[in-house]
Amino acid sequence: MSYLVDTHAHLNLDPLYDQWPVIVSEAVLAGVEQFIVPSADIPTSQRAIEIAQQDHRVRTAVGIHPEAFREQSSIDCAPLRTLCADPTVVAIGEIGIDYYFPELPKAPQLQLFRDQLILAKEFDLPVIIHTRTAAAMDDAVSIIESSLGSRPMSGVFHCFTGDRAFYERIRDLGFMVGVGGMITYDHQRALQEVVSTIPLESIILETDAPWLTPRPLPRGTNTPANVTIVAVKLASLLDVPVSLVLDQTTTNTTSLFFTRNHTS
Ligand SMILES: [Zn+2]
Repeated sequence: MSYLVDTHAHLNLDPLYDQWPVIVSEAVLAGVEQFIVPSADIPTSQRAIEIAQQDHRVRTAVGIHPEAFREQSSIDCAPLRTLCADPTVVAIGEIGIDYYFPELPKAPQLQLFRDQLILAKEFDLPVIIHTRTAAAMDDAVSIIESSLGSRPMSGVFHCFTGDRAFYERIRDLGFMVGVGGMITYDHQRALQEVVSTIPLESIILETDAPWLTPRPLPRGTNTPANVTIVAVKLASLLDVPVSLVLDQTTTNTTSLFFTRNHTS
């Protein structure tokens, strides 16, 4: 499978939304053939589905991001249930915990995260997890561990910034590591070191477009075509051929997101 998948492209958000067909075409020319669009709230989840309904290369993750608490003090994730049934939906995301912004209330974030994990189990969907700060990573993993029950979950820690011990913890849960433009930044030496020890079998690629433009590109709007730059950097960190990175990350992505009954 010598093509790439951008597992995290916000085509449903500004400034990508207005021009998403062009952005997808450019990425396809660069060798990126499939895209997962994660969501931030109910309206952006609906918008992700609308995009995917128009282009079969696009799949969606529906979900409510913890930053939604900026706008609302209480959030009900019940409307997601209808959206989860859409055939374009391959994951719940992005969901998670963010302690970086003090104005985001802690307890409601934890509750919303738990509620969405329950939904993921109900629909047998993997989860795309956002965490910011070490404490948030720790709490997210603890909640997943305690909510596992008899049924295993799967998913990805998107924009992974953990250390080796954190990687081992999520690996043991069956979760993947989402690697993006961050590994191309000179000031992220510690992250580069950690990623260079992670087996390719645990890694999927992402851009987080429109954010996190990889170097050496100038700062500016990131697009899914740039996942190719991430792939090349990852190959150099792992000291393996780029073709192996393409094949294995696409295999990983396919088994995580594209092989479930509800996607057929
Ligand atoms: Zn994101």
